[in-house]
Amino acid sequence: MEKKNKKTLNTPECPPIPLTRKELKDLFNYHIPCLCCGEEMLHPDIYMQMLDMKELGGNAANAVKFLEPYEGIMHSVEKQVFNMFKTMSKKYPNKNFQELLIMKKDIHELALVKIQSSIFNKVSFYRRILPKKMARQLRKLMIKTNDIIFDPEPHKPFSRRIFINKLKNILKQLENKKLKNEIIEIARRLPRSSDEVCAFVVKNARKKPEVIALNLIHPSVGTFEHLTPRCMKGLNNSLNFGLECSYCNNSRHHYPIPIQIEENPYMPQNAQIQADKLISLYKKGIGKKEYIENLREVLYWLSDRTIDLDISKLYIS
Ligand SMILES: [Zn+2]
Repeated sequence: MEKKNKKTLNTPECPPIPLTRKELKDLFNYHIPCLCCGEEMLHPDIYMQMLDMKELGGNAANAVKFLEPYEGIMHSVEKQVFNMFKTMSKKYPNKNFQELLIMKKDIHELALVKIQSSIFNKVSFYRRILPKKMARQLRKLMIKTNDIIFDPEPHKPFSRRIFINKLKNILKQLENKKLKNEIIEIARRLPRSSDEVCAFVVKNARKKPEVIALNLIHPSVGTFEHLTPRCMKGLNNSLNFGLECSYCNNSRHHYPIPIQIEENPYMPQNAQIQADKLISLYKKGIGKKEYIENLREVLYWLSDRTIDLDISKLYIS
């Protein structure tokens, strides 16, 4: 459905494109912090080169050595898992990352189930309040979900995303929007592999060792975020690109920026930190003023004026 808009023409209302894709990508060479979470991003080409590194699938001692230079850009959970690998690889240097995670899986799975079941309990409570039909559907969903999480070897692993989608479907017709959001908000607290070490271990223990290694890095990879999503006819060029880490880009989906701010309350401050960095690079002859000015304008309107970047330094020589 997005292919139709592939070619973007410069219409009279549209200012010239400030930076080419290549010029924008080159900015990732300069330790740019993510627009949303503020974490430093990795140049996507470096990540592409890592895809071919056979060492990452080999024994943990070697894989750790290869990943060590990137420890600084790893996000918090990934860094904790990497440190676990560092310690374990001293004791079991010949095991690979998957074998090490499997050794840790049971204990982390118990911890994860504990967190999940307390959230499911809170969700189940709403059976008392919801209209009868919805309460019945919710009961069914919770029975199925409990079957998965309490079974040590379920047919299909639990998926947070599928669960939330099913829950949203059940609540679709609920007129009380406040109640609906309240329930979904509780479900959103279900841990993701990016929020809890236990969820990372359980999810990744099923994966190949080289994939586990890449998953330690992947959230930090720099991407072009379509500030107006493509499905809403957002442009496919630097007039509409924000520099965001892969984690923030993927977690936004196509939600509007005010929702992204709700999930990431520090986004306005982080966007300012990024803008300051872009301004200081511009003063060294890297990047273009027009990109920063456009970014300011686009973020201001798309965030309902919540992100109000101060770019006055751009004009002080
Ligand atoms: Zn981010």
